[in-house]
Amino acid sequence: MTAVRIDGKAVAAELRGEIAVKVKAFEAYAKRLPGLTVVLVGEDPASEVYVRNKGVQTREAGMVSNEIKLPGTTSQAELLSVVATLNADKSVDGILVQMPLPKQIDTQAIIEAIDPAKDVDGLHPANAGKLNQGIAALTPCTPLGCMILLEKSGVQIAGANAVVIGRSILVGRPVAALLLAANATVTIAHSRTRDLAAVCRQADIVIAAVGKPELVRGDWIKPGAAVIDVGINRVAGENGKTRLIGDVHYASAEQVAGVITPVPGGVGPMTIACLLQNTLTAACYREKIDPKSL
Ligand code: NAP
Repeated sequence: MTAVRIDGKAVAAELRGEIAVKVKAFEAYAKRLPGLTVVLVGEDPASEVYVRNKGVQTREAGMVSNEIKLPGTTSQAELLSVVATLNADKSVDGILVQMPLPKQIDTQAIIEAIDPAKDVDGLHPANAGKLNQGIAALTPCTPLGCMILLEKSGVQIAGANAVVIGRSILVGRPVAALLLAANATVTIAHSRTRDLAAVCRQADIVIAAVGKPELVRGDWIKPGAAVIDVGINRVAGENGKTRLIGDVHYASAEQVAGVITPVPGGVGPMTIACLLQNTLTAACYREKIDPKSL
């Protein structure tokens, strides 16, 4: 059996198209456009590319995109002051402070300083708490993307055994909360889990968010399972170049799984699409519009 490959690029493009239509409906009602501001501190090349892509895709969806670039020497107090200004700015619906931040800045303090109503990364404890209580909230983008990929692939989530490998606040914990909200029976595995392979073999759905190249092997996968690979690992490729691989050994896993995401081209493209969705959702909440009504 060879698994069906989930085309994250295509699903993300479809989602962005749907968002662009909804942005027009929002504008007709609210007489303004949703606005996202991304704050980039320092000159990390990967973050710069990512922020540029966010800007392009935000504008393509018809929303207002602003970028604030700050030097790598920015102090925590200076960044907190920028966040406070954005919190108070009525034209800003979504604030995203690009991670990782320079060492002199306490990341958690910045996360907690962002107005939860504008927290399009969904990392503020108020939003994380709501997610865990099953209350509508801004939800981290990559986990949201994983759920959309499962749903679009026709995977039965209710009643399924789901194993999430990884317990970060960015991916593992929120995706586990979303799976639970969708009525899966959820196990969260991590670096201290005993016999991870045996735990995985019980899973109808495996979400790998570890950051360990090709950790999950084909013989860890239950036949017919859905495998979502969140991992992005840069490894040495041919001719001195680097290439991206996931946390799942794709070649062996696709022989056993029912559906599987590739790396690249699986979960990755969904993250920005879901950021756009969160920006629209935040704008709707602020205008007291039900996002589902658009
Ligand atoms: P993270 O904060 O480093 O968390 C990794 C998690 O994996 C931790 O909970 C850790 O357990 C667990 N772990 C580490 N080694 C393990 C092992 N041998 N067996 C079982 N569990 C193990 O990483 P993250 O931010 O969640 O990101 C995970 C991966 O997803 C990375 O490759 C990252 O680049 C990628 N990512 C992709 C996207 C995207 O857009 N596609 C977005 C975000 C992240 P402990 O808690 O016990 O340490």
